[in-house]
Amino acid sequence: MIIGVLDIQGDVSEHMDMVKASGEAPKRVRRVDDMKDISGLIIPGGESTMIGPYMKLRGIDKYIIEKNIPIMGTCAGLIVTSKEVIGGNTYIPLFKIKVSRNAYGRQRESFETDIDIKGIGNFRGVFIRAPVIEEVYSGDILSYYNGKPVMVKDGKNLGMTFHPEIYGDPRIHQLFINGL
Ligand code: GLN
Repeated sequence: MIIGVLDIQGDVSEHMDMVKASGEAPKRVRRVDDMKDISGLIIPGGESTMIGPYMKLRGIDKYIIEKNIPIMGTCAGLIVTSKEVIGGNTYIPLFKIKVSRNAYGRQRESFETDIDIKGIGNFRGVFIRAPVIEEVYSGDILSYYNGKPVMVKDGKNLGMTFHPEIYGDPRIHQLFINGL
């Protein structure tokens, strides 16, 4: 399988390494032409205010909806694919959730912690100016931190507020890929 990694911003090469570690072929995605042969798309973290408009400009948002491309959205990648965004815009209303941008505070309030993920177990979650999921209208919640959902699965789509690519642990990427 070929798994796309949106190559606009963020840990693109780290996500590509995790796809390789899962036994599949990663591909950088910058435009719709790069998406013809992918089975799923990973949208890395970064700034949603930059990633969202870029996807719109390039027609990537429309193509995802039209072709029903499964998405793994991490942090800003989850924000740009959430139906409701407090403190930001809606770009691709894929995850039927409400997120609140930067709700843990400023950059210095970033943190990492062990979380427990349904079907995976213990995982080191890195929360970098992360959003908070305030509501989940549909889909399964796979993990919580401090009483708030931090990871959701809705059909083939997998979303999380933290960065799963930092420590070289491919289990979350495997979960996404196994579901395709
Ligand atoms: N604060 C960023 C945003 O609102 C998300 C940060 C991240 O992706 N690590 O888009």
